Formats: sequence, structure tokens, C-alpha cells
Amino acid sequence: MGVTRIVGAILRGPEDVAPEAWIVDGRLTYMRPAGAVDETLAGVVLPGLVDMHCHVGLDPGGAVEPDLALKQAFVDRDAGTLLIRDAGSPSNTSFLHDRPDAPRLIRAGRFIARPKRYLRGYAVEIEVDDLVDEVVRQARAGDGWVKIIADWIDRDGSGDLEPLWPGAVLAEAIAAAHSEGARVTAHTFSRDSIDPLLDAGIDCLEHGTGMTEAHMSRAALAGVPVVPTLLQISQFESFAALAGDKYPAFAARMRHMGQRRFAHVRAMRDAGITLLMGTDAGGTISHGSLPDEAAEWVAAGLTPAEAVAASTWSAREFLGMPGLDEGASADLVVYAEDPRADVSALARPLHIVLRGVRVGP
Ligand SMILES: [Zn+2]
Repeated sequence: MGVTRIVGAILRGPEDVAPEAWIVDGRLTYMRPAGAVDETLAGVVLPGLVDMHCHVGLDPGGAVEPDLALKQAFVDRDAGTLLIRDAGSPSNTSFLHDRPDAPRLIRAGRFIARPKRYLRGYAVEIEVDDLVDEVVRQARAGDGWVKIIADWIDRDGSGDLEPLWPGAVLAEAIAAAHSEGARVTAHTFSRDSIDPLLDAGIDCLEHGTGMTEAHMSRAALAGVPVVPTLLQISQFESFAALAGDKYPAFAARMRHMGQRRFAHVRAMRDAGITLLMGTDAGGTISHGSLPDEAAEWVAAGLTPAEAVAASTWSAREFLGMPGLDEGASADLVVYAEDPRADVSALARPLHIVLRGVRVGP
């Protein structure tokens, strides 16, 4: 087994930089090994990027074949994403765990929604009374996460965003997931589902576009992070246009939330919420978009350093996964420039190393 030497700035944390490290047998060490060095990589080194909201095994039509799911995972990997929390998939992508060349994947099982209350072909569709049992089923099928659709347009009712589940049922379901050792995250666009989710002990919020300042304070205090998915929210204008005259309240709400997205994400940051980065790739967003999502954060007025932390150290800590620690698997990306100075550097990785092996283009 060869030894790879890494020199430059190895960013173990926002304030923790090492000048030199080695990869031995796929693992990272800061103690100089005895063997000869086969290869030296130089640059600014980040832990493998984390996409907190990425649907491997999904495309606009729903579930995809394993070959395509693998291709999606490779596209993510080649953009530097070496750890994915999938935030729901209609496909069983557990075969990716056996692929050493695929990014690490933390699956959330299938999306859980009610009939006609989410995108067709994506979710397991159940009635309210079945939520607790279904959450337990998906907790057992996934890798420690469950994904609930908390709100969606109610075309047969108000014609606006409405919660899918009564608060008491949500609370029972989330408690059941926790008993299974799983955490729960929720798709939420609306204002009305946030308090019931927080009351129920939700572990993470996706999108969070309907959050008020009071919601933001609550989430910050409870330590519940938000994955803001700015690329997705930039599409709200087109969702509004599609809803058009038929659902005017929904269209107006979506348009408003889309337009205010930059100010809204800054307000979340200012409220003290932990923001984690996710692309929402798989439906309409392309895989491999994490550098683009990071650029959106900076366009919104967050700092490049915040964008980097949200896609590396903070996300890994929240998921319970190691970063550039002594003895950890060497999952890292090397850049010529520091992405904390210029976020566009994330789109130009020099080297991508997964499980100690050079991968990527
Ligand atoms: Zn999504």
C-alpha cells in the first residue's frame, strides 16, 4: 500500500489548520509514516463536501434504475460531494453502500406523503392514521433518517399550502422514529406546519420558506437546523406561474417566498439557526450542483466561509460523521485556492480523494 502526502492548508475546522498529513491504507494521519511517499497532493484541503438534501435514485419521472442512480452519485462525487443525506428516494439505493467508488450515502427511505399531496410517483402515499406505522417502516428501511412531506398545495380544499398531518399524529410519529433510533426531517414550504413540527420534536427542516421570525427563534433555541435549498426556491416563480389563475393564493404565496429568499435566508442566519447545505438534486435540479448552491448562498449575502462550513464541518458534525480527523477515512477535496476567500473555487477541485483513493475526472 502506498503513502500519499498532502501539503498546504488542511482545514480540519474553521480555526484548525494543519500544514501536512498523510494517507496510509486509506486513512488520514498527521504522524509521518515510515514508508516512502508515492504521491504528493498540494493545496487547500476540505473534508469531502456534504449534500444534506440530495435525491439519488430519483429523476423528474420518479424512481430510476440502479445504473442511473449510480451515475447520479458519480456526478455528485465529481463535484466534491463525498457524503450525501438523501432526503428521500423512491428507489432502494442501498446497493451504493457496497460501491467503494460511490460517495457515502445516508438514506432516508421513501418520502412519506398523503395521496395527491405531493409530486406524483415520488412518495409512499398513505392516510393520516397510517403515519406512525409508515414512519417506523421507513426508519427500519433507511440509514437513520426519515423524510416526511409536512405541507403541500391542497388542490381539492383551500387551493393553498396546507399541512398534511395533524400535530398530535406528527408528534407520535416522530417519537416512534426516535424509538427506532432514527431522526426525522420534513419538507416544509408553508408557515402553518412549522410550529407543529417543532412541537413534535422534528430534527431538521428542509426549505423552511414559510418560517417567521418567531419560528426562527424557536428553531435556533431548539438546535434544529434548516437546509434552505436556494436553487430550489429560485424556481418558486415558475411554480407560481404554473398554478396561475387556478390557485391564486398559492401562486401569490410562492411568488412572495421566492422573491424574498435571499433576505429570508439571511434572517435565518441572523436568528442563530444552523444552516446546512443541500442541493435538492434529483427532481428538477441537476446532480453535482453543490458548488452552484454555495454560490447562491454568497449571492444571498452569506459569507463564503459560512457556505463552506455548512457543506463541510457543520454538516458532518450534525450527521455524526468524521471530518479530517486522525485515523478517519481519507475523504477529502483539494483546491488550488481557499473557497472561503472565493466560493467559486468549490467548482474547481484539483483532486478528489474518497476512501483514500483518487476519484473523479
Ligand atoms: Zn427534495
